[in-house]
Amino acid sequence: MPTPNSKPRPMADSPPFKLDDGSQVAVIGGGPAGSFFSHFLLDLAKRADMNIAVDIYDPKDFLRFGPIGCNHCGGIVSESLVQIMAAEGINIPETVAQRGIDAYVLHTDVDSVRIDTPLQEKRIAAMFRGGGPLGTSDATWEGFDGFLQNLTRDSGAKIIPEKVKAIDFDDTGRPVVTTRGDTSKTYDLLVGAVGVNSPFLKVIEKLDFGYRPPEITKTTICEFYMGQELAKRYFGDAMHVFLLNIPGLRFAALIPKGNFITLALLGEKIDKEFLDSFLKSPEVKKCFPPDWDLPKEYKCRCSSYINIRGALQPFADRVLLVGDCAASKLYKNGIGAAYVTAKAGATTAILHGISAGDFKQNYWPACKSINTDNAFGRIIFAITRQIQKSKFLKRGVLRVVAKESKKEGKHRHMSSVLWDTFTGSAPYRNIILRSMRPGFWLPFIWETIVGMLPFRKNGKGGKGQVISSNALGKVYRDGETIINQGDTGDCMYVIQSGKVRIMGVEGNRKIHLAVLEEGDFFGEMALFEKQVRSTTVCAIDETRILTIDKKTLLRRIHEDPSLAFRILQKMSSRIREMNCQLRDVQN
Ligand SMILES: Cc1cc2nc3c(=O)[nH]c(=O)nc-3n(C[C@H](O)[C@H](O)[C@H](O)COP(=O)(O)OP(=O)(O)OC[C@H]3O[C@@H](n4cnc5c(N)ncnc54)[C@H](O)[C@@H]3O)c2cc1C
Repeated sequence: MPTPNSKPRPMADSPPFKLDDGSQVAVIGGGPAGSFFSHFLLDLAKRADMNIAVDIYDPKDFLRFGPIGCNHCGGIVSESLVQIMAAEGINIPETVAQRGIDAYVLHTDVDSVRIDTPLQEKRIAAMFRGGGPLGTSDATWEGFDGFLQNLTRDSGAKIIPEKVKAIDFDDTGRPVVTTRGDTSKTYDLLVGAVGVNSPFLKVIEKLDFGYRPPEITKTTICEFYMGQELAKRYFGDAMHVFLLNIPGLRFAALIPKGNFITLALLGEKIDKEFLDSFLKSPEVKKCFPPDWDLPKEYKCRCSSYINIRGALQPFADRVLLVGDCAASKLYKNGIGAAYVTAKAGATTAILHGISAGDFKQNYWPACKSINTDNAFGRIIFAITRQIQKSKFLKRGVLRVVAKESKKEGKHRHMSSVLWDTFTGSAPYRNIILRSMRPGFWLPFIWETIVGMLPFRKNGKGGKGQVISSNALGKVYRDGETIINQGDTGDCMYVIQSGKVRIMGVEGNRKIHLAVLEEGDFFGEMALFEKQVRSTTVCAIDETRILTIDKKTLLRRIHEDPSLAFRILQKMSSRIREMNCQLRDVQN
């Protein structure tokens, strides 16, 4: 029987720090980080012809209603993550996306203004993380964490619904996982994806390899039942963000999802009185129906922590931490950061190795890049807090956005900066750089000065918007052209539902080349070369298409070249098909 050790340490007779055929990996935590890690590890292992076994430990049943089946979150999947997941072949189904968001309504105590997505396309998903809020009686949806867990199951991971209570190391330095039910198993690699709300962080810290958990702050989430009809009428496809000068409140958002509205608040002391007074404030009240009564009790309410500064040393030999318990984007897109760290961890484990040195060299840069970007985020939120305190500055912002709503995409400097700040889609550094341009500052200064005059609304407030569906992307009718041969292009497309016909155009003749279906992508050549579109693509029946921006994708491919695997694989199979067709023609 090996003697357990409490600390990971290299042993003279240790097996090599590499994953190989037959290696065993334990993932503790089946939230987004644990699921993304497992999915990408198994996917990369398959590509490298390796057979690896992954056990995911998580006692949570993501089908249960209320906080018990949920990982406490606003439930927004950012625009960039929706696109990157689609490029990875993970399309969020309609049963998971409770609403496709295509606008933000910014409320201040001066007035409100609506910021629409530049493409008029639903590329932000609002979803439940678990089974749904308490009080749900007619759940027709699937939660995001359950959806990802099913994805890992399909990739070959085994889900063990147990809580892990201890970690030791055997005499060869391999981690031993012990569950609450007192079963123990030895692994080649241990991955912690336990978030920041788990007492298990203390267990990891006590392993004494230098890990220090992230700095955290408190948040509160409440769910209100409204019914589909009222939620649609009053919230539409828009998320409502509040920059109010209320002491103790840093940020608040109302997010429509199916029958419910989710309220997410950032602040340390949020109790029932605070919630009552927030909901009674005129800026919030006007979002709800006039006869809507304050809830007598907040049935589905939870408080949890959010990562605001990354962990120290989230790795050791055979030990890796991913997601919130390692690094996360400040206040926004935590699920996106979980994806980034999980993917970087999986790539390192398969392509480089599982020693502390391998993780330091190949995984840690991904965490560092998030942490560095958060420094820029802190500057943005400090400026936002100053704006929050000043009526004149708020008026200046609202006036600029109102004017920009009449302009074309490229010239909407303030709107695009606010859009990316609230959606968490772009790196904070990029937002700061854009906000330093004269095109941003000059109108802001001018409108702040002019703003001593009363603010005139842009007439697009938050109420009464018509909503089409909860699905993501843009709907094309039967026969409608999506791209034209000869057009210049700067995005690729992923089919969310329906089919498209690919055609070559020669003079007046249209030559049928192929039919692509749900999950397929097209237009990818525009990502790699500056040539015009080589084919025309039309919808067959009603088809829903998600566009993926060239910049978003290239930025991610630069950080994670393995993202291009799927695109290259598809392109190579298309070349193979074309060769076969050519051979058939020649014969
Ligand atoms: C109020 C609030 C609103 C937010 N809104 C958004 C948003 O709108 N969009 C967004 O992108 N991000 C949002 N976030 C951030 C987002 O929730 C996190 O970044 C994300 O959940 C991190 O994923 P994770 O897998 O690292 O951790 P978690 O989601 O916390 O998952 C950890 C998992 O580990 C399991 N676990 C813990 N201990 C053990 C153990 N001992 N044994 C076995 N399993 C264990 C837990 O059961 C859990 O399932 C929000 C966060 C908060 C607090």
